Amino acid sequence: MKINLAKSAGFCSGVKRAITMALETAGSRKKVYMLGDIVHNEIVVEAVRRAGIKKISRLSYGKGKTLLIRAHGSSRAVIEKALARGYRIIDATCPMVKEIHKIACEMEKKGYRIIIIGDKKHDEVRGIVGQLKEKALVIDKPQNIPLERVKKIRSAGIVVQSTQNMDNVKRILEILRKFIPEVSFCNTICNPTRIKQEEIKNLPKENSVVIIIGSKTSANTKRLYEISHSINPRSYRVNSAGEIKKSWLKGAESVGITAGASTPESSIKEVTKKLESIRPF
Ligand code: SF4
Repeated sequence: MKINLAKSAGFCSGVKRAITMALETAGSRKKVYMLGDIVHNEIVVEAVRRAGIKKISRLSYGKGKTLLIRAHGSSRAVIEKALARGYRIIDATCPMVKEIHKIACEMEKKGYRIIIIGDKKHDEVRGIVGQLKEKALVIDKPQNIPLERVKKIRSAGIVVQSTQNMDNVKRILEILRKFIPEVSFCNTICNPTRIKQEEIKNLPKENSVVIIIGSKTSANTKRLYEISHSINPRSYRVNSAGEIKKSWLKGAESVGITAGASTPESSIKEVTKKLESIRPF
């Protein structure tokens, strides 16, 4: 049984950078805090906790403390509040997310009403919303477009959450263009996501079985699984090697492996090793 590991499996550049910055900060400073988890992966969260970084749900008195901003970024209000309370800020926001902030702000300055295609509750989207003066409209699915509100918009500046699925974006955009006279669209899906999405279209076609590794809390792992499963029903999502069932591999000539952007190398190696040890039947 052949095992084909996707080139883009695992950490994206933004997550890698944020984890490195977090561990370096923990090594050089005491009292380092983070609002929420660094990424949606239990192994990485535990490694960061062991390094000494504490997760908090809200800001307190910040004198002598460092606040680490995660790869997803943060709203202006949070950073301003943290500075006002005395925290020192280490900003690990992914440069590609920063670029979305910049584009959205420039569009707003030009007078466009900002529409973000993305998941309302995702921290990255909240961070983009939190850069703007006016309230942005966030749309996640074509069926959730608030048409009555959209019809009132004369000119829209549209940006996209970095990990969105391009097919979903195209469908939303098509509808918006019908109702909004002037649309300025910037495709801000990041490069690592584009490569991952390209690979996940081929992996299920080229392999009998596909294993997608990542936490149940990881949105991008879920998205990879959904795309793969729609092409090849023999697609399975696991968080660790122990979840793999031998029956999944019955008659399989090859297995494709990929992993979400927050899945560590150790999980990928563990799953690969386990698959190598299974004899096809
Ligand atoms: S998914 Fe893209 S934008 Fe998000 S952290 Fe990774 S590289 Fe940056």
